[in-house]
Amino acid sequence: MNTHFDSFVIPFSIGVAFLFGVILYRYIKWFFALPLNWRYRFGKKIFSYRTITAAWECVQESILHLSVWRRNAVLGYMHMSFALGWLMLIVVGKLETSAYLKDLINPPYLHVFFRFFYPQESFRFHHGFNYAFLMDILLIFVLSGVALAVFKRFRSKALGMKKTTKHTTGDRVALSVLWLIFPARLLAETVTCGLKQPVPLPTALGNFMTHSLGEGLRNWVGTDVLSAMEMPVWWLYSIALGVFFVAMPFSRYMHIFTEIPYIFLKNYGIRSTDEPTSMDNFEIQACSRCGICIDPCQLQSSAGINDVQSVYYLRDRRYNMLTDAVTDNCLMCGRCETKCPVHLDLMKLRQNGRTAREGELVHNRYAYLHGSDRSEGQGRVGYFAGCMTLLQPGVIESMRKIFEAAGDDVWWADREGGVCCGRPLKLSGELKAARRLMDYNVQLFKKHKIRTLVTSCPICLRVFKEEYDLEGIEVLHHSQYILRRIEAARLTVTGSDIEVAYHDPCELGRGLKIYKEPRKLLSKVAFVQKFRESKRNALCCGGSLADTELHSAQENAIAADAAQVYAAKGAQVLVTSCPQCKDSFKRNSPIPVADLAEVIAARIASKPKIPQEFGA
Ligand code: SF4
Ligand code: SF4
Repeated sequence: MNTHFDSFVIPFSIGVAFLFGVILYRYIKWFFALPLNWRYRFGKKIFSYRTITAAWECVQESILHLSVWRRNAVLGYMHMSFALGWLMLIVVGKLETSAYLKDLINPPYLHVFFRFFYPQESFRFHHGFNYAFLMDILLIFVLSGVALAVFKRFRSKALGMKKTTKHTTGDRVALSVLWLIFPARLLAETVTCGLKQPVPLPTALGNFMTHSLGEGLRNWVGTDVLSAMEMPVWWLYSIALGVFFVAMPFSRYMHIFTEIPYIFLKNYGIRSTDEPTSMDNFEIQACSRCGICIDPCQLQSSAGINDVQSVYYLRDRRYNMLTDAVTDNCLMCGRCETKCPVHLDLMKLRQNGRTAREGELVHNRYAYLHGSDRSEGQGRVGYFAGCMTLLQPGVIESMRKIFEAAGDDVWWADREGGVCCGRPLKLSGELKAARRLMDYNVQLFKKHKIRTLVTSCPICLRVFKEEYDLEGIEVLHHSQYILRRIEAARLTVTGSDIEVAYHDPCELGRGLKIYKEPRKLLSKVAFVQKFRESKRNALCCGGSLADTELHSAQENAIAADAAQVYAAKGAQVLVTSCPQCKDSFKRNSPIPVADLAEVIAARIASKPKIPQEFGA
């Protein structure tokens, strides 16, 4: 083993030892705090093809940053140049050192400071490979990323970001040192090259950049000044590395390492849930605080709220300074989640942050919710309007007409109220109370022997599909039910040349990926306009039950901005398929607003002569 040493390597060495000590301690602690069955699953899956999938995802996302590339090429290049460039500097540097010393085992600092310890050799070929040339190329690659990062701090819009993250003091320290590392390396290698290689650079060989700069610097300031500079600049480089490594576990840069175990765990089917688990630690620390989740958030673009977005929620949770005001100020619309390049389960993390307070809630505004059977009618089809739909008599009346025209006998679960799907309780963090209500409803549905459960509320639909054990009962949104009835010739509607804008409700669209049926249904009676802000990019109506912090003026501002977007192409009606969205838009839209059921009910052409069983 080679024993070259100089005291300036100490700050770097301390930083590396500290960093890996902290990382190892944290990962072991978090892993062993995972539920036993998850750890068992990890042990089983590690020897499956999922390990290859996870490794490939690490290359794509942690090194190449493809998701960021897809959002903005310059931003993608910036992230990639740091990750890939630095990784390659380490790998190629290690290979170069080992090849030159003909010894694989050497101190970890040696390849980092190779140019200092072996200046005369640094532009030679080793084993026929021009390492020095490649190292200069890689340094330019990383430096171009540093230049873009500095540029982004002042002109973020040029890199596709209207808003950037507000940094903590720790982040600022780490960021400043990170920006210093590579210029310091360039300076150190340049000085040493200028001082110790006073010979012309052999053609097309070696450190073309550091050698040429070194020569230039020597000619400018002279050998004495270079000599006086040499040790301070290598100290500077080592200190910058050491400080960055010590600051890393306490800054946003912890994501560099944490994203890797997160990707592996995710690929093994281990993810955050509605209740807090140790997996949350991996997800929270895998957030790079890139700020990409800020621009899609309508709380900032329409309501001027700038400190509750997912990036800040995760930051505050990570440093144990989370307040209810941040936790609860989120529409849970999922727009940020669809853009997050790390693919974090942002909605689960927001939800389990609320669940974590379960039992502490003194004023639960949904405490009055409980189940009672006040249902009416009977039939194999059950209709669960949902609390929000009950506030929209137009939707209720339209569904009554549609059921009648389709010839279905329907059991009305909640025309007189009495039941709630449980989602409001869950959103407020009262998971146990929500589960009790859900169990009650399951028994209610089974008691009335329904085979199909139709609801007009996407919030209820999502809960029924994701949280209820409704074996033997098919759950449909009213858009799906009506479309089936039309396709089975049980219901006939007449077309029109009315132009409509269709708004995808968050829970129905991003939540359940039901995009096709409402459009197909609507196109039978109207001309449906196309928008960039549709499907997974749809805007939130601002009236979400999930946000208990918003004032009505802020809700209205969000709804008004969104309605303006949907009205911009001259639609005659803004159609949605959620009672909550209808309510929000109705108060703020420049054009009339209707629920899908109302549009269809108004275009019913005929009633079937012979009622048939559902599913015909
Ligand atoms: S949550 Fe995702 S998008 Fe937002 S800052 Fe973190 S990594 Fe970036
Ligand atoms: S879920 Fe919606 S409201 Fe909440 S932080 Fe994300 S984008 Fe903003």
